[in-house]
Amino acid sequence: MRKQIAAANWKMNLTLDKAEALLDGILSENINPTENGQVVVAVPFPYLIMVNEKVAKRKGYAVAAQNCGNKKSGAYTGEVSVEMLSSIGVEYCIVGHSERREYYGEIDEILQQKLVLCLDENITPIFCCGEALDVREKGKQNDFVKTQMEKALFDFSASELKKIVIAYEPIWAIGTGKTATSEQAQQMHAFIRSVLAGKWGEDVAQDVTILYGGSVKASNAEELFHSPDVDGGLVGGASLNAAEFIQIIKALK
Ligand code: PEP
Repeated sequence: MRKQIAAANWKMNLTLDKAEALLDGILSENINPTENGQVVVAVPFPYLIMVNEKVAKRKGYAVAAQNCGNKKSGAYTGEVSVEMLSSIGVEYCIVGHSERREYYGEIDEILQQKLVLCLDENITPIFCCGEALDVREKGKQNDFVKTQMEKALFDFSASELKKIVIAYEPIWAIGTGKTATSEQAQQMHAFIRSVLAGKWGEDVAQDVTILYGGSVKASNAEELFHSPDVDGGLVGGASLNAAEFIQIIKALK
């Protein structure tokens, strides 16, 4: 069975004391994800070490960065390299979140560089893709997502691709309270898997974890996650509430 992941994305929220309290709240219930389950907590850079110290002791839990630099090292003021992340025990990194693409001009070439660096350092990238509302209204969402995949992923070998987690996050559902229906999510996840199969073969496609992101909550997680091609979720707003996120972890297959 593919790895099933509940990933929290705290974005640019919480001061240190509140971040620590939220994490303690999430860890307090002692939920061990299932054998194939993994809980990933993507936090702002200053909190990575604190979060890693706490989650490293728990089986099935890992820390993620929300972003990384696209250069290996050097004179890039303000950037954080993948090597630095690896040196403090970070295991996952979100790459290409729509907020990074939209507000920070992260074009496909930059995302591809970040993916290469993550794979070099054995950090699992969570590669985000997904269409805006106008694209969906025109019925062009499959073409749009396929192009995003082609541009960022198609240069990787099968063995490299298998180390990448994909997160389908329709932009119209992120932070809006509008969730894709489980049919819409399943349709797109199956499509993404068919694109993977077309390029790397069915076996590879069946191995890749594909998360859904976009207003996942305790109340809709189970229905979404139980769709056959949905392998968990990337969760923004609802991950800022420990009780809510715990329910989302429990909804993993
Ligand atoms: C996200 O940040 O990736 C996300 C899906 O946010 P939200 O759950 O708040 O829609």
